[in-house]
Amino acid sequence: MDRQSIIRDNWECVRSDVRNAAQAAGRDPDQIKIIGVTKYVDAETTRMLVDAGCSVLGENRPQVLWQKAESDELADAPVQWHMIGHVQRNKLRRMLRHQATIHSVDSQRLLGAIGDEAVARDETIDVLLEVNISGEEAKTGMPESELLKCIESAESIPVNPIGLMAMAGWGTTGDEARGQFAKVRELRDQLTAKTGLALSHLSMGMSGDFREAIAEGATMVRIGSRLFEGI
Ligand SMILES: *Cc1c(COP(=O)(O)O)cnc(C)c1O
Repeated sequence: MDRQSIIRDNWECVRSDVRNAAQAAGRDPDQIKIIGVTKYVDAETTRMLVDAGCSVLGENRPQVLWQKAESDELADAPVQWHMIGHVQRNKLRRMLRHQATIHSVDSQRLLGAIGDEAVARDETIDVLLEVNISGEEAKTGMPESELLKCIESAESIPVNPIGLMAMAGWGTTGDEARGQFAKVRELRDQLTAKTGLALSHLSMGMSGDFREAIAEGATMVRIGSRLFEGI
């Protein structure tokens, strides 16, 4: 099979697995956005995924996001970009030109810098705050104690936190991952109660644990390797 057909099949499989997981959890499948994570592949292969029907894409490096967004292969494609990795403040402006939704706000300083860009652009920017739920040193994201401060500091700037993003720890079993995702949801509920902010989005779940994440309320799953299997 050619690469385009393999990617098309993979995409259809992932879509149907996500729908099934939603139904198994008694949830509406249309409430779950699949973000195709394209960090493993070049612009040409990324375009194949778009042509297969996945136009919501995630990258974990700002520079790669804008290089792809500006590439011949993708410049005219109807892509909604998501940034799921660490963002250096000096990379914000060029990335935001592509209307990227940032999932990985991991400090008050970054939030403030996004606020400055929002003021310069005369718009309000939606973001997700990344929480470190597994407590591992190597993992990214803020400890719970930082989150509330971040949400409070967002009140005075044109930045709108729409939810939380989290990753399960390395080498967790499905059950452990599910427990961590449940903690993210509970944390969100506590923050909503404290701040009145809906934080309606939960970005959690990857190729290996999206079913568990959907069972615990994920509204965005970030799926990469499964989409490019066999190419
Ligand atoms: C790479 C990556 C993913 C996708 O992981 P897969 O296991 O390849 O599906 C999801 N989220 C983040 C933050 C990533 O860096």
